[in-house]
Amino acid sequence: MDFYKECNLGENRPYKEVIEGFLPARADYYKNPEPYNIEPFKIFGNLYYVGDKKVCMHLVDTNKGLILFDSGYSHNFNSLIKSVEKLGFKCDDIKYVIHSHGHFDHFGGGDRLRDLYGAKILMSKADTELLKEMPKRALMELAPEKDAGICWPDETISDGDIIELGNTQIKCVSAPGHTPGTMAFFFDADNGVKKHKVGYLGGVGFLSIYKEFCEQYGLPANMCDVLLGTVDKLRDKKVDIVLGNHPNHNCLIEKREYMLNNPKTNPFINERAWGIFLDSIAKKCADFINKGY
Ligand SMILES: [Zn+2]
Repeated sequence: MDFYKECNLGENRPYKEVIEGFLPARADYYKNPEPYNIEPFKIFGNLYYVGDKKVCMHLVDTNKGLILFDSGYSHNFNSLIKSVEKLGFKCDDIKYVIHSHGHFDHFGGGDRLRDLYGAKILMSKADTELLKEMPKRALMELAPEKDAGICWPDETISDGDIIELGNTQIKCVSAPGHTPGTMAFFFDADNGVKKHKVGYLGGVGFLSIYKEFCEQYGLPANMCDVLLGTVDKLRDKKVDIVLGNHPNHNCLIEKREYMLNNPKTNPFINERAWGIFLDSIAKKCADFINKGY
């Protein structure tokens, strides 16, 4: 089964249509997120999925503590905590929460992870500075809890930084496009016998690269070109496991289903997937430019 042929990133529609449809499309999830929860599961080795059906969160067990990629929507925080605990981990052991970019749907649980469990919050320097300059860039007006507030990082990260904990080294690479400060992350997942290279492009949605959007939020108008530049820059990375920013980006739900039905195979491991994923982003960008968006 080729998940990358079957999953695509959706058709590009005019900005007005997309922005007007944003809240109605999420009304049900915002009102009651519980039916959107997913049983947490192991992707490979020390890498786990702890997100829901709407937004991805990934946990890495480094043997000297946990690293969490993104903390999701604020209104579904309890499901994140339950997911971590169901896997047999303690939230007290979360040492770092790495926020992929400065939008409300990825940093919503960060403040509570810091306050309740002492986790250190990281986000890119570029997105932190852009949010300080204009907080509305966090898109809180599109959030289920509009007053939840921005989660400010304890430390910022930049291109080339390495986050090290226990057996894990995470390489941070600047990957602008979805936001100017979006980061990509590369590290090894390890099951004690074998290692696989993991790649996470921490921002893929296209709402924020429309010219109208960029104008409204005081961002450069050429974010689509910027994203294309990022795709080119990341293309030579060797990746066996592609992490999604939202589950539809890497067919997470379908792959999980497949994994449950075929326990001897792991559809998350595929050395062609990174290239195909980047190609699909480039194709969307080309269509954006074609349509004058
Ligand atoms: Zn975003």
